[in-house]
Amino acid sequence: MTRTADEEPGLSREAHVTAGGLGTLTAAIPGSAVLTPACEDGDALAAPDFEPDSPERTNLITPGTYGTRLLLTGHVYGEPGRPLPRVLLDFWHADYLGRYDLTGFRLRGHQFTSETGAFALSTVVPGLYPDRTRHLHLRVRHADGPLLTTQLFFPHEPRNQTDPKFHPDLVMTVQTGPTGRIATFDIVLPT
Ligand code: FE
Repeated sequence: MTRTADEEPGLSREAHVTAGGLGTLTAAIPGSAVLTPACEDGDALAAPDFEPDSPERTNLITPGTYGTRLLLTGHVYGEPGRPLPRVLLDFWHADYLGRYDLTGFRLRGHQFTSETGAFALSTVVPGLYPDRTRHLHLRVRHADGPLLTTQLFFPHEPRNQTDPKFHPDLVMTVQTGPTGRIATFDIVLPT
C-alpha cells in the first residue's frame, strides 16, 4: 500500500529546524560563504543567454490550481551578507499530481529580487513523479553573471534518500502554517 506521503503533496509536519538545531540548517544564511550549488535538469535551454519566456509573477496559483499551498521566501546574497537586488529568478515545477505543463505556463513564472535581495513565491507543493523526489526547479541570474540552474528540495521526503539529483545543501526549511506550507531558502551566488 502506498504511503500517504507519496500520494498526497503533504509533507512531514515537523519543522526542519528541530532535532539538531541550527546544525541541520542547510540553507545558506547571511555571512555564509556556502555557494548555492547547481542541480541541472538536463534541459538544453539552460544556456548563458537564457531569457525566460514565463510570465513575470510571484504567484503561480491560477484558477484550477490544486494542492497544498506553498509560500517560499528568501534572499539572494552575493558576498557574505550582501543582498543582491534585481536578480532574475525563474521558477517552474510539477503540479500536485507530478505533471508539468509542457504547452503553457501553468506553475511557471519569473521575478526579480527586491532592493533588499528578497523574493517570495506563492504556489503549491509539487507532486511526485517517477524516479524523482519532491522538488522545485529554478534558474538564477545576477546581472551578467553566470546562469545558475538548480533545484530546491523538501525535508523529510523518503525519496531524498534515493534520488541521485538530491543535494542536502538545497533543502528548504519548511514548516506547516495555517494555510499551507511555509518555506524559506537563501541563495548565495559567487560575486
Ligand atoms: Fe522536475
